[in-house]
Amino acid sequence: MTTTNFEDIKRELEAKKKSLTTRLNKINRHLRQADGPLSADSQEQAQELENEEVLQALGTSGREEVKKISMALQRIEAGTYNECSECGDDIAERRLQALPYTHLCIECATEAEANSS
Ligand SMILES: [Zn+2]
Repeated sequence: MTTTNFEDIKRELEAKKKSLTTRLNKINRHLRQADGPLSADSQEQAQELENEEVLQALGTSGREEVKKISMALQRIEAGTYNECSECGDDIAERRLQALPYTHLCIECATEAEANSS
């Protein structure tokens, strides 16, 4: 049982989530604007499509990050933030500071990595 509460990390995650959400809203607005008819010029058309693809990719990775942040915040709320979801051991605080979205202790993460490669 640790007495650490993760107020600092929680504040950071909440701030990050907020700025990401703002950015995602902006991207969505851009994408909606780009929904109009494409330029008649085929070179410009290619550029427009490329921009849209980049924005869509940014949107996807941003949404994934928001999801990870939400999950980390839920774990903080539930008091299981520093508990490895695999083996139940404590995750080192240094590891959480470096990788605030992780839900695995270093041993399980190393093992998962070895299995995936
Ligand atoms: Zn573990």
